[in-house]
Amino acid sequence: MNQFFTQEPKQKQEFLSFLSEPRRIVLTSHQNPDGDAFGSIFSLYALLKGMGHQVHAISPTGHASFLAWLPGVEEVVNFEDDLDRPRAVRIANEAEMIFCLDFSALNRVKDFAETLAKASAKKVLVDHHQEPEGFADYIFWEESASSTCELIYRMIVDLGWQENIDKDVATCLYTGILTDTGSFKFESTTRETHCIAGELIEKGIRPDMINRKLFDQNSLSRTRFLGYALSEKLTVLEEYGLAYFVFSKSELDRFAIQKGDTEGIVNYGLSVAGIGVSVIFIEKEDGIRMSFRSVDDFSVSAFAREHFNGGGHKNAAGGRSSDSLEATVKRFLEIIPQYKSEMKAVSNK
Ligand code: 5GP
Ligand code: MN
Repeated sequence: MNQFFTQEPKQKQEFLSFLSEPRRIVLTSHQNPDGDAFGSIFSLYALLKGMGHQVHAISPTGHASFLAWLPGVEEVVNFEDDLDRPRAVRIANEAEMIFCLDFSALNRVKDFAETLAKASAKKVLVDHHQEPEGFADYIFWEESASSTCELIYRMIVDLGWQENIDKDVATCLYTGILTDTGSFKFESTTRETHCIAGELIEKGIRPDMINRKLFDQNSLSRTRFLGYALSEKLTVLEEYGLAYFVFSKSELDRFAIQKGDTEGIVNYGLSVAGIGVSVIFIEKEDGIRMSFRSVDDFSVSAFAREHFNGGGHKNAAGGRSSDSLEATVKRFLEIIPQYKSEMKAVSNK
């Protein structure tokens, strides 16, 4: 399923004519931003600034250190930061256009939702998550796209702005594509994904450097935590083809785990032969956060939506629970018998 405003001549013309003069623009994405979220924000940040607009980036929460090197990140306004929030509200209220990137539901922007919903700016949605809410004036959305950054590239081409992609824009777009495809390995990776990556390399980016900055800058404590997770905390239910990890807050504290340090650990469950579904449960200040991963036709987004107040994509989704860690895992284990055959069916990879 998809929807592209650039394919509606009237909408496309209106959009281009609106941006033909300098505008006050805000770019935002989902809470706890990942590589695609910040890749989306900062690609458009560099592009639209380069085109003469006044651009601000607002993140609903702080970000992980593995994204801090992206060009422009030092300018981000963090809505969760008490010192930044009044400015974020003012910037959002004064904006003429707000780009909502890599999310389709207002609850994904946490406490920024109210300000965003009330802002009078025209809203542009670029995203690939399932079941978009209809809050945007211009929609560029495709559920099967590898990443929002791939969609942004395609939108830029449709708008005839390809010449404005400089090295910074390309670095950010490549980051989003690389991280959301699991380094070009998920089912969503297509010929076009690879072709776009090639076009971005033409702009002078350094894929080796981008990979190192994203994946080879772990703290020693994060690396040791990964060892602990794999050796002590990986539970496998062979009869389901299911793997899961459970982490209490005190364990995270013991390893001095920082924002973003648990990112990617859930994927290790899928690296085991005979496993088609992997889950991680993390105890946070404000409840239990879950990440789900799967292969082939087992939809973790449907599972997360149905049982854990979440959603996302068919093979990568998130959810949350306000029960205790133990009660959440217990409930999960009570739910899964009804999915046993579907889970087992995708375990034979
Ligand atoms: P992660 O497990 O890495 O946090 O999220 C996996 C994917 O699911 C990401 O694309 C993320 O944006 C999306 N996602 C995570 N939590 C939610 C949620 O509560 N609702 C929706 N719609 N998507 C989510
Ligand atoms: Mn994404």
